[in-house]
Amino acid sequence: MAIVDVVVVGAGPAGSATAISLAERGRRVLLLDKATFPRDKVCGDFLSPRSLAVLTELGCGDVLRGTQPRSIRQSMIHLNGELISSGPVPQVGHLPGFGLVVPRVVADEILFRRAAAAGAETVEGFTATGLVAHGERITVHGRRATGPAAVDAQLVVVADGARSRLAAGLGVAPVSGQKDPFALRAYLRDVPCAPDTAGIFFNADFFPGFAWVFPTGDGGANVGMGMQMDTARRYGINLRDQFLRWLQDDRGARAMLGGARRHGRIVGWPLPAYQGVHGNCADRVLIVGDAGWFVDPLNGEGIHTALESARLAASVADEALTTGDLGVGALRAYERRWRARFDLDLRASDLIVTIAQNRDLLPLWLLVLRMAAQRSMDDPHFAATWGGIMAGVVPAHHGMSLELAVRTVVQRPGFWLRHQGDVLDALVALAGRGDERGRTALPAGWARDVAAKWVAAADGLATTYGVPWTSGSRPLRARADSPQDGLPTIVLGPHDRDGRAAP
Ligand SMILES: Cc1cc2nc3c(=O)[nH]c(=O)nc-3n(C[C@H](O)[C@H](O)[C@H](O)COP(=O)(O)OP(=O)(O)OC[C@H]3O[C@@H](n4cnc5c(N)ncnc54)[C@H](O)[C@@H]3O)c2cc1C
Repeated sequence: MAIVDVVVVGAGPAGSATAISLAERGRRVLLLDKATFPRDKVCGDFLSPRSLAVLTELGCGDVLRGTQPRSIRQSMIHLNGELISSGPVPQVGHLPGFGLVVPRVVADEILFRRAAAAGAETVEGFTATGLVAHGERITVHGRRATGPAAVDAQLVVVADGARSRLAAGLGVAPVSGQKDPFALRAYLRDVPCAPDTAGIFFNADFFPGFAWVFPTGDGGANVGMGMQMDTARRYGINLRDQFLRWLQDDRGARAMLGGARRHGRIVGWPLPAYQGVHGNCADRVLIVGDAGWFVDPLNGEGIHTALESARLAASVADEALTTGDLGVGALRAYERRWRARFDLDLRASDLIVTIAQNRDLLPLWLLVLRMAAQRSMDDPHFAATWGGIMAGVVPAHHGMSLELAVRTVVQRPGFWLRHQGDVLDALVALAGRGDERGRTALPAGWARDVAAKWVAAADGLATTYGVPWTSGSRPLRARADSPQDGLPTIVLGPHDRDGRAAP
């Protein structure tokens, strides 16, 4: 086969979006995947407003709408089986005020076929096993049903998902997968809950992990649970046992799911959560999506970052192919662009999750969750910010504002009266007395980790805003766009009293 401009390895959202963007720029692209489409991918199937914005830009909007997916416009947050807050998905800037639940077996095929329609050559059943760069080209080696295979390109975009074999081979993966979250998913039928309402479930037994119910609109639901594996190991939590127990016993889950029946198996997959990754590029190589560790640690969403990293990589690849400089030095423009777009927010998410990973302080975190839930019921602006962070449409670093912290803590006297027991438990945990296994409430490793991540996030805040800690009081901006990144500008103006973005 003649040498192509770009081989994209992996045709999930990241790979197909890269192929569409490059083919539309007139580049010769080969998109290959080990699977044959349609194929399933273990996922919650939730396309957030941010994902929808990029999918529309990629020309998939009409086809997606044609599948008549259900719009998710409301969310309900539960703690230990009790509904603690509910409200609309915030409408932010030009983004839709809803998400869609589209099974990945459908959504990924739409993207894959769109890549072919845009002019990319597609190859299924090709498992890539390694990359070899030589002079003016790079070779992707692999296997097909017929035997060993190889394709040559000027540049390779690695999009082979979590635990990427090719990224590991390049030595650019950030750390071992031991710290990654892991998530389980199952499909249910005959679900009685409102089809436009997603449920998020926190519980003392598996916090800081969480469970979800995402109605699929056909009377079914995608249900799942995810958690950081190092926390699960440290505290002896078996994710599958917790998932089954939650499905069976949790009052909130029962209220949403009634007598729903499971069909298919419970399946799991790792989530490569962002940890301040390395450059994600090498000579003649760019790494996008899960292969580049772009999952938001806070909500476990990775489709929007897969799509956005793909768009950024495509613009850098196109520029590099034009100049003919495909060395890592030129490709570092990709790193600069994704850092400008994601780094601060994903670091803030990572910080929040790292803080909550100390389960010795569990009563304190659950109290903070209750306070935030109560405040969001009383204060639409707070609800829009908090809900927006959870939905990925408001930058996570807005959660670090002093104003938000003060608003969380200031509660009506009735709240404190109702939750005096919780306050006492939190104080006992803080004093390090509540743990029969004798752990201190502030283990040194955790404190070091939090301090390092706090400094990194604060530094990012100071760079972005000049003055940190005040972002809650200024008009909220969804992200600091660099004009050249080719992505939709997402600007979040002030909210009105109902939590809607003001015109
Ligand atoms: C249980 C669970 C729930 C989730 N829920 C959500 C959610 O609701 N919303 C959200 O935004 N994100 C969610 N995520 C994260 C989301 O699934 C990923 O971030 C997203 O799939 C990343 O897309 P990708 O294209 O980078 O990788 P993938 O979707 O994993 O695609 C990688 C592709 O590469 C192919 N491939 C792999 N190895 C090779 C190889 N050697 N050669 C050739 N091809 C190869 C695979 O077949 C696949 O098609 C969830 C993840 C999990 C595990």
